[in-house]
Amino acid sequence: MPWIYECRQCDARSPAQHDHRDGADAEQERHRTDAHGGLAPAAGDGVRRVHADVRGEGFLPAGWGWALLVLLALMLSNCWGR
Ligand SMILES: [Zn+2]
Repeated sequence: MPWIYECRQCDARSPAQHDHRDGADAEQERHRTDAHGGLAPAAGDGVRRVHADVRGEGFLPAGWGWALLVLLALMLSNCWGR
């Protein structure tokens, strides 16, 4: 799961997600330097994990896992019914 940096004081957020925490940490340092004179904002900020963007998450739509389970259950019940 990717990482983002958020500053609650500026209501700002990483424009892009980072694959590694290091990238979001660096962005935190950059933002603190540029916007807060190198200090941590009073309202708080932080790096956290987020769900990946929809892109690149695979070719199956959301909920495919449940659909597969239902399909399997139907197939199994059909076999046992004979
Ligand atoms: Zn800020």
